[in-house]
Amino acid sequence: RGWLSIRSVQKVYDPFGKSVVAVDSCSVEIRPGEFCAIVGPSGCGKSTLLNAVAGFDTITSGEIYLDGQCINSATMKAQPGPDRIVVFQHGALFPWATVLENMIRGPIVQKKMNKHQAIQKARELLARVGLSKVENLYPTDMSSGMCRRVEIVRALMNDPRVILLDEPFRGLDALTKTVVHNALLEIYEMERKTILFITHDLEEAIYLADRVLVMTTRPGSIKQTIFVDLPRP
Ligand code: ADP
Ligand code: ADP
Repeated sequence: RGWLSIRSVQKVYDPFGKSVVAVDSCSVEIRPGEFCAIVGPSGCGKSTLLNAVAGFDTITSGEIYLDGQCINSATMKAQPGPDRIVVFQHGALFPWATVLENMIRGPIVQKKMNKHQAIQKARELLARVGLSKVENLYPTDMSSGMCRRVEIVRALMNDPRVILLDEPFRGLDALTKTVVHNALLEIYEMERKTILFITHDLEEAIYLADRVLVMTTRPGSIKQTIFVDLPRP
């Protein structure tokens, strides 16, 4: 569960005007439970690729399969779904809801769990990342690092197949980053979800991921993707 197959994906923006090839002939197999980081310079197409997997945008050619089912191609209307949860660089917690309410809202609205089950799962997840004591706080009462940890564990509430992280640590100071890194590794060790993780920080990618996908961009819009495998100690 959580096998992602990205096959010859190309994404061109504005195909009728001055076209920009954002992603070109990108083929990647990401195995279930693999923690894959995507690094590369600004503008190389990282977010475009992640958005294509998330289903926010239809690709120009190629296909993306999740567990054998096509989730994006030029001929279908891509759609996001709770099986592919995205955590962005900006906070996405509801400011008017407590941490616990933020955690349980999704699964309850989607009728995936009753309130009792949702609260139990939320408490388990919060405990895993050292946030048991904050369940009744509001996001505005917490540090950005705490909010980021809540966002990451909230993404697990619906038992997604794939977790997509778009620069989730941007803007955190070094010490806070370490705390959130460890929280992410903790939940990865526990859940072994397929993770696709964008960062511009190669060191961070090497520290966290099993496999680093390097996207490059060259003059003349030539784009390449190269894999670097990192055995987990
Ligand atoms: P990265 O995340 O690696 O910085 P992006 O995926 O955001 O790269 O962008 C890849 C290329 O596509 C860039 O040249 C960018 O300017 C272009 N691009 C991204 N989004 C759009 C858009 N909505 N319309 C036109 N061009 C875009
Ligand atoms: P949807 O459009 O999936 O029904 P909402 O409209 O409630 O969800 O929220 C929009 C997006 O914000 C969702 O895709 C979800 O990722 C995110 N989100 C915001 N708050 C929550 C929450 N409490 N639980 C789960 N997801 C949330």
